[in-house]
Formats: sequence, C-alpha cells, structure tokens
Amino acid sequence: MTWLNRIFDNLQQHEVNSQCPVCKKFSKQSSTKRDRGQAVLCPHCKSLFIMTE
Ligand SMILES: [Zn+2]
Repeated sequence: MTWLNRIFDNLQQHEVNSQCPVCKKFSKQSSTKRDRGQAVLCPHCKSLFIMTE
C-alpha cells in the first residue's frame, strides 16, 4: 500500500498561506505544522510564530 502512503504524505505536506503577526507578510508554510500547533519561521523577518488558523 505504498501508493496510499504517498497520497497521505502529499496531503500532509500541503502548503498554506500564513500571515506573520510581526511583519504582516504572507509566506507558504506546511499545514502539518499548523495542525500540530508548531512554530514556523517567517522568511521575511525571521520571527517564529504559531499559525492560528
Ligand atoms: Zn515576519
């Protein structure tokens, strides 16, 4: 069932647009981190923040 695992991996690695609370700019972040409440790094101002939606 490796093909199925591959599909799940692709879904989990889906990228979402998230807005940095510091510089208000948008960047692509992993939806997995959002779902797990993990901090992500803003590529614009290098701030760590947690996606809220
Ligand atoms: Zn930022």
